[in-house]
Amino acid sequence: MVLLSERLRALAPSATLAMSQKSSELKAQGIDVINLSVGEPDFNTPQHIKDAAHKAIDDNFSFYSPVPGYLSLRKAICGKLLRENGLTYQPEQIVCSNGAKQSVCNVLMALVSPGDEVIIPAPYWVSYPQMVVLAQGTPVYVSASIEQDFKITPEQLQQAITPKTKLLILCSPSNPTGSVYTYEELRAIAAVLEKHPNVYVIADEIYEHINYMGAHASLAQFPSIHDRVVIVNGVSKAYAMTGWRIGWIAAPLAIAKACNTLQGQYTSGPSSIAQKAAEAAYGDNQSCVEEMRQAFLRRRNLVLQLVSEIPGLQINNPQGAFYVFPRCSAFYGKSYNGKTIDNSNDLAMFLLEVGHVACVGGDAFGAPDCIRMSYATSDENLVEAFARIKQALALLK
Ligand code: PMP
Ligand code: GLU
Repeated sequence: MVLLSERLRALAPSATLAMSQKSSELKAQGIDVINLSVGEPDFNTPQHIKDAAHKAIDDNFSFYSPVPGYLSLRKAICGKLLRENGLTYQPEQIVCSNGAKQSVCNVLMALVSPGDEVIIPAPYWVSYPQMVVLAQGTPVYVSASIEQDFKITPEQLQQAITPKTKLLILCSPSNPTGSVYTYEELRAIAAVLEKHPNVYVIADEIYEHINYMGAHASLAQFPSIHDRVVIVNGVSKAYAMTGWRIGWIAAPLAIAKACNTLQGQYTSGPSSIAQKAAEAAYGDNQSCVEEMRQAFLRRRNLVLQLVSEIPGLQINNPQGAFYVFPRCSAFYGKSYNGKTIDNSNDLAMFLLEVGHVACVGGDAFGAPDCIRMSYATSDENLVEAFARIKQALALLK
């Protein structure tokens, strides 16, 4: 037997990717599964972005790029930050990576020393705690219930901070809850952080453009903490480019430099072709973003209606991203065909096997009472999926 490193022995696989894989396997066996598990837009990448990638190939963008990405892409990202967020960054403060996932991991590796605490509001995206453990840090969870729209309060944050706190990871709009922090709520969070000058922030804004509430607010907008905030963003969600693998940070210079050094030893710059595509994504033509947001909004409204018709599911009013995260614990302790549902993973497995709909149990998101469903799929699929879920849940006695 191979003796794996201690680091790997402690690492759990991604529950979102595992469930999606399971759903693909059942599909390959001919079972008609509707996949609401993985979070990725179902749209094709817009044509002008694909055209830019074709051109990049023809123009021989086939060599190593600079480690943090082409200067032209980093300038385009600075342009986006100024235009859309009113934030001024220099290209030296931007590091492009193989997706926002690597960006988050880079920052944790760059900042966290063994024993450092990282505050993670729960529910959280599945990968944060695992990445913190990889960096030998200690995750500290702050739970936000459905009654508080899954958002932490400034008081909760204050209570969680200790002399060992290195970082807060705040995701807004949130995966998995769809909750969005308002400008006022972020201002109150910033006021707490102001009092703790050694605490840094990863502001995961990958769902920035999928926001039904209005203008996106960022913790980086508050001058008193600006030089401790690292924005994480990328093209995966806003431009339907999950497979292209381009994410980035906008960071204080010292952190950007550290991520540059780390990445230079670890992966080098991301794909040259994908970078040229991302550069086009941040160009003049932004109409695709609004078109997709409108489609997600329509689906969000449809799904809220469909979930409200299912007895036993309790839901918040998600204002962003493309997930619903209903509380489903009313079904725990119930059975079907001699099998009892004890937790969210049992329920997700039941919905997959009996209802043929793939969802992800809330356990992996730090919310064992809930279950995540992605609505990044067609209206027809959603209507069918929630009819199946309703039918399957009615079998549980
Ligand atoms: N952050 C959050 C909250 C996510 O949901 C995801 C996954 N889509 C990522 C980061 C990583 O995105 P990607 O690596 O595809 O850019
Ligand atoms: N972030 C997406 C999700 O939560 C994609 C899967 C992943 O990267 O874990 O489903």
